[in-house]
Amino acid sequence: MTRRRLAGVVAAITLLAACTGTPNATERGVGSASAQPSSTAAVPGTTLPTESASQSPAGSESMPSSAALTSTPAPSGCQAGNRVAVGSQQTFVKIPTAGHAMALTLDMGGRLDPAIDILNFLIANGVCATLFPTGAMAQTPQGQQVMAIVRAHPELFEIGNHTMHHCNLVSGGGGSPTAAPCTGVNPTAAFVRTELTDAAAILEHFSGQPPAPYWRPPYGVVNQAVRDAAASVGYTKTFLWDIDTIDWKPIADGGPTAQQIAAKVMSKAVDGSIVLMHLGGYETLAALKMMVPGLRDRGFVLTSLSDLLN
Ligand SMILES: [Zn+2]
Repeated sequence: MTRRRLAGVVAAITLLAACTGTPNATERGVGSASAQPSSTAAVPGTTLPTESASQSPAGSESMPSSAALTSTPAPSGCQAGNRVAVGSQQTFVKIPTAGHAMALTLDMGGRLDPAIDILNFLIANGVCATLFPTGAMAQTPQGQQVMAIVRAHPELFEIGNHTMHHCNLVSGGGGSPTAAPCTGVNPTAAFVRTELTDAAAILEHFSGQPPAPYWRPPYGVVNQAVRDAAASVGYTKTFLWDIDTIDWKPIADGGPTAQQIAAKVMSKAVDGSIVLMHLGGYETLAALKMMVPGLRDRGFVLTSLSDLLN
């Protein structure tokens, strides 16, 4: 048993005395799944924070050596980039064998305004995280800045693939930052493969990291045919979540406050929890400023999906 898992067991025994939250998933929306990460639910007609995406990739940068990609643990004890092998198909809502650790995952499929401030906060606090960008957002000027920060901090940040256009891969529709690429699409296996491989080329170009075998289906909507298509191009690890912060929804539209997000995550967090957040979330940064110290006070290591799996 690894040092952290042993520590986790010890801490868990201590914590069981303190808190017994039961993880749960919630409502639909941009970048989030239906009530439960489901295999067939569709979300056409969802309104999206828009941002023009029609920028072509600018400039090429030297690829970091593979040594740079397999990082050493950050001072906080978390680690990123120690990816698991392709292996067999697996779908994760949480990773209970991870010991007393959990993953704050951040999708990047639409609005990006607070993204750099969020990453700088995570860097300043030594929080490792797995990001799920789409190709369409990664190639925007703001998206490229985010990817440059990922490239500069492989010890903290790793990426997974969130497809090119954020379409609903089961029933078609959806789409971010625009619906056009997904409208009227019947998502065949070939479409799914192209959505992943097109995005992968852009994500690796700007971040220096190949996102495979990690991916997150848009809206958390997936079925076996989609999993098979994804696996056929190397994406065997499908990541959903057990705690949805709904941080993509602004308070004015009924979205949660920072206090509500922090309280929800801290009350529901268990060993191996996977928390869904967004780099474009309206209250995300403010919530993180409460969640990070609060979760650490409970002994959680805040780390990447690779680290939870290893
Ligand atoms: Zn998303």
